[in-house]
Amino acid sequence: MGTITMLSFETESPNKNAAWQGMLLDMNKFRADFPIFAESVNGKPLVYLDSAATTQKPRCVIDRVANFYAAENANIHRGVHRLSMEATEAYEKSRRRIASFLGASDAREIVFVRGTTEGINLIAQTLGRSTLGPGDEILITGLEHHSNIVPWQILCEQTGAVLRVASIDDRGEVIREEYTRLLSEKTKLVALSHVSNALGTINPVREMIAQAHEYNVPVLVDGAQAVPHMAVDVREMDCDFYVFSGHKMFGPTGIGALYGKASWLKELPPYQGGGDMIASVTFDKTIYAEVPAKFEAGTPNISGAIGLGEAIRYLQDAGMDRIAAYERELLEYATSCLMEMNQIRLIGTAQHKASVVSFVVDGVHAHDIGSILDMQGIAIRAGHHCAQPIMDRFGVPATVRASLAFYNTKGEIDALVTGLKKAIEMFG
Ligand code: PMP
Repeated sequence: MGTITMLSFETESPNKNAAWQGMLLDMNKFRADFPIFAESVNGKPLVYLDSAATTQKPRCVIDRVANFYAAENANIHRGVHRLSMEATEAYEKSRRRIASFLGASDAREIVFVRGTTEGINLIAQTLGRSTLGPGDEILITGLEHHSNIVPWQILCEQTGAVLRVASIDDRGEVIREEYTRLLSEKTKLVALSHVSNALGTINPVREMIAQAHEYNVPVLVDGAQAVPHMAVDVREMDCDFYVFSGHKMFGPTGIGALYGKASWLKELPPYQGGGDMIASVTFDKTIYAEVPAKFEAGTPNISGAIGLGEAIRYLQDAGMDRIAAYERELLEYATSCLMEMNQIRLIGTAQHKASVVSFVVDGVHAHDIGSILDMQGIAIRAGHHCAQPIMDRFGVPATVRASLAFYNTKGEIDALVTGLKKAIEMFG
């Protein structure tokens, strides 16, 4: 599922070239949908290679959010007036769209949250807090973003549970023997990234979930870096929970979603208390609303949810399989260009990767590279990418990370290479 195998660039055939040209024509038209690419940065055309941090927004998403405020704004789920009913319908339509996008069987399995981080904290503080005790174990991998580490550490402090980590090898792949060894009767929860934001590694989540299920252990998948790049089917994957952020998939910031199997969501206690998550309240007793309202206390990010629905409509029109195929070519191209440069060492060379090239440059600090590229209008990320344990694993303080989306072009990769050569000349 959604697995991308790196192909060799040297063996490019004429047929493959023709296919690429066709795909280029097809995909390059989408770039015009993103108004930001008309901007210049430091007097240069913007080359945006930081989509893993946040993606740019197509005009339709910007317009959808603006139009909500201009012509449709009302609170949801409580008004009897027309605007409120229409806003409620638009919000719920987005929920249904997300459900179909992820292959969920029912829209009630989708909970709106602030983003990936809140989705993970929600599961830690509901499922984790209500079921874990001293000596129980939570298993994660060495590939995780801080958002999929710290909430579990907090949970361990609260419950006496223990965090176990399946480490990664020199390519940046989880050592499967270690994962297998660490799964046991003590394991009560597994949390895995689908795609690593720092290295681009695609975890074989389907197999890893099946292994955890042999012990009846629920699995949460952090899909922040997967949903913008590949088709995801939560039922095929058989994860118990899947979380992602709207802003990394061409939608607004401050909105994301948690998918949870209906059987789990019904069982879990609420996350936060407040309006909208109740069926009835007295000073003696509150009866909670049904899912998903039980997990959506207070006025939610209504415009964000509606904008996210529009981003998903846009992605579905573009076609996730087409996006994945185009990005695979871009990633191969970027990888092969960087491998030709002697001063560059790639960090993260997993067999299955998506959308990220991370590297260090001999003798030049990542932040200096970032500043020099910025002067040329090229936006990359330099740092630990909220994944300090990965940096420790590779013995580097930081990497330079170029992260791609389907609006990028090979020309932009060439601009990156030229910029890197300049930086190396200046500092190397
Ligand atoms: N997990 C991964 C793999 C990520 O890349 C990110 C964002 N960089 C997060 C979690 C956290 O996402 P957010 O800040 O949108 O909650």
